Amino acid sequence: MSEVHSTCCYCGVGCGVIIDRRDGRITGVRGDPEHPANFGRLCGKGQTLHETVGGHGRALFPELRHDRAAPRARVSWDAALDHVADRFATIIRQHGPDAVAFYVSGQLLTEDYYAFNKLARALVGTNNIDSNSRLCMSSAVAGYKATLGADAPPACYEDIDHAGCILIAGSNAAWAHPVLFRRIEDAKAKNPDLKIIVVDPRRTATAEIADLHLAIQPGTDVALFHGMLNALLRENLADAGYIEAHTRGFDALETLARGYSPESVAETCGIAADELLTAARWFGNARAALSLYCMGLNQSSAGADKNAALINLHLATGHIGRPGAGPFSLTGQPNAMGGRETGAMANLLIGHRDLDDAADRAEVARLWDVPEIPARPGKTAVEMFEALRRGDIRAVWIACTNPAQSLPAQNAVRDALANAELVVLQDILADTETAPYADVLLPAAGWGEKEGTVTNSERRISRVRAAVAASGEARPDWRIACDFAMRLERRLHGRASSRFAFDHPERIFDEYREMTRGRDTDITGLDYAALDAGGPQQWPCTAGAREGTPRLYENGVFPTADGRARFAAVPYRPVAEAVDARFPFRLNTGRLRDQWHGMTRSGRVARLWAHAPEPAVALNPADLARRGLRAGDILRLESRRGALHVAATADAGVAPGQAFLPMHWGSRYLSGAGVNALTLPVTDPRSFQPELKHCAIRLAKAALPWRLVAFGTPRDGDALARLAQVRAWLPRFEFASCTLTADAGGVLLRAAAGAAPAAGVLEAIHALFELDGGDVLQYADPARGNFRRIRLDGERVAAACLAGDGSSEPWLREFHAQGLPAAALGAMLLAPTARAPAGMASRGRIICSCHGVGETAIVGSLGAAAGDAAARLGAAQQQLLCGTQCGSCLPELRKLAAAAVAAA
Ligand code: SF4
Repeated sequence: MSEVHSTCCYCGVGCGVIIDRRDGRITGVRGDPEHPANFGRLCGKGQTLHETVGGHGRALFPELRHDRAAPRARVSWDAALDHVADRFATIIRQHGPDAVAFYVSGQLLTEDYYAFNKLARALVGTNNIDSNSRLCMSSAVAGYKATLGADAPPACYEDIDHAGCILIAGSNAAWAHPVLFRRIEDAKAKNPDLKIIVVDPRRTATAEIADLHLAIQPGTDVALFHGMLNALLRENLADAGYIEAHTRGFDALETLARGYSPESVAETCGIAADELLTAARWFGNARAALSLYCMGLNQSSAGADKNAALINLHLATGHIGRPGAGPFSLTGQPNAMGGRETGAMANLLIGHRDLDDAADRAEVARLWDVPEIPARPGKTAVEMFEALRRGDIRAVWIACTNPAQSLPAQNAVRDALANAELVVLQDILADTETAPYADVLLPAAGWGEKEGTVTNSERRISRVRAAVAASGEARPDWRIACDFAMRLERRLHGRASSRFAFDHPERIFDEYREMTRGRDTDITGLDYAALDAGGPQQWPCTAGAREGTPRLYENGVFPTADGRARFAAVPYRPVAEAVDARFPFRLNTGRLRDQWHGMTRSGRVARLWAHAPEPAVALNPADLARRGLRAGDILRLESRRGALHVAATADAGVAPGQAFLPMHWGSRYLSGAGVNALTLPVTDPRSFQPELKHCAIRLAKAALPWRLVAFGTPRDGDALARLAQVRAWLPRFEFASCTLTADAGGVLLRAAAGAAPAAGVLEAIHALFELDGGDVLQYADPARGNFRRIRLDGERVAAACLAGDGSSEPWLREFHAQGLPAAALGAMLLAPTARAPAGMASRGRIICSCHGVGETAIVGSLGAAAGDAAARLGAAQQQLLCGTQCGSCLPELRKLAAAAVAAA
């Protein structure tokens, strides 16, 4: 047994992990107590990383097809890379360099990013390289550059401990950045005077900690921030000295803000004017105010303006460049920052240089020893796939991302992929939504198998280290890019230079480091040895520095021509797609607590399914009642771009007239093209980030009377392989979903249709769940369409399929999940009754997935305890252990504890 220190590969908190390994396998993951991002803490996703490394679905060897109608066949690395190099060279020669594109990812390491960027710009000669960070962070980039002069988050995690007011806008950090949120909870516990303001249309788990929740109408953030500025000015809470000494452009903003009275803004935002005034006073009067923000601001057609309007508040009050103060964008991906730093986005160049600056282009060309960097703008993510659909781009190389799930307007994106001349997919997995479109699949080494660096939200560069050899024939991303580049260079120029002859990621880091010299991202003081010795460091970290820079702009000098920050006088613009009589609901998208992105990785871990076991759209209970709907009804959701079927759930935290659908659901778990069948491809004019957060929809109960639910534990124990087989059946039903069951190593299929399926379908599903043997209990009533089968494994329910009447599903699933003895129930197991057998207790919704503790036990324990909410919570934790491991469930536990006090 030995251990390796590395970094979590999920979110931008960038937690340090210690990987335990034995006999060439990763056996466990722990939080690194020395890592300054998390000091030993991990959330549920981080704690289960070791369960994501191997298993069914990994891409293990290169695959290639010459004919779209044929399946890909296994080939050698040489054959795959030569084929792609031939095709790219032919397309570039015939149609020019902009006929190819690279779509990369915030999950790549910095070294991978660098290699792809150099490949696209220095060798191919195109700026058609963009990252999926375009979908999450480009508005933050544009906001910082427009106001502070550079794309640099000025604050750090430690500022949470020093803040007197924390404004959390458009971020459900409790679920999306759980370890960071633990730090906010700690700060609040240590300092009850700390004011927390949460701006979010939904009452999220994050809003539960807020002293003030501003449940604004979606997309009205700019109006809110201008309204707060108006109030700050009225109440003399602006810092005239700071404005005078360190900024420019305040007069124009002041004039604009006069038109945003708290009263008019309150009406626009759908909040009370008093709430706005309170927020402004808390922000203005705080000794230090910190803003944390994320997709709610960024994923918007006015995302850059939202960012800039929030930064205005910091500049106007001088809440920046001091401990506890500053605007602080949270990154969604583990290395979104690395992509920004290495310029691996269509409109950026390496080291925070600008593509539209001739001097910057010339400098990069000189450093890379190429004649020029093309000035033609590259295509950003949404534009790239539109160009692919039109045929302007003919070949696309997709690395470490899943556009057939994550881009908006999926029907158009999938058309683009289907029509492309060549799709190359480089990924750790062979079963993503994008994989069926790939003509060439290149297996990439995954987390735990590769070396390099990542940068987290607070500019902290951490080492990522390999603990085991790569699976199968998988190779590190940087190496794949460089091997391809050398082949392409020979075809285009008749020789391969040493430009891509890297033999280790450290050589790439060293070259990248030199390109930051003198820039605001300067890391000339870092190399792998320094990071190994001194631990993770925040940029800038210049040559000779003993450590990095926690906080920027402490001297009030900004990276602009005159050293002054700029105010942004940007008017409020409403969301791109208004609701109307035809599409009357506002759809908001967001995250689940225990899942991540398209669930290609987190969806492989059974435990992570406990908290949200099946896809659902959340509606306000009043909307459900008004429309005669009930939780569990299958709804048809429709936007102007597409439709999907999904079950309804009630959530009082969702405002009336709104609907909330997690962004994770794609066609691997839900029939149809997933949530992004509905979303809008309209982008911000400056950041080019699409408005993924919001669109207008209509919804109605689906007329799908035929129902089926099947669940079971495969006899061979390989739930992932069984899930893949079940997944293949999703398109056969108008509505269907498939998931892992958190307990019993099982798989669940739920389906609904307008009529009973064709002959043979039910038999096939029985076979899939191994419900076709002689030991299976059966009931059939063809006249009523009721068919039930149950397989027992000794005393326990091992699998079941209920077609037609499914009223016994809830208790049967409890028997399966809890492994309760069931054999004695005999024929009752087949009875169409919702009444559970005597003595069986349902666990209810699982709240604590670490310890598998359900709502029933928690509510019982809280109710039996005495004292205030904290005392009851402590007693429940002692009794049940809930919330004692990763802590992600603590916001929900606190809410239940408060409810128990109220009930008492
Ligand atoms: Fe990973 Fe969770 Fe830390 Fe994010 S908060 S880096 S997902 S352990």
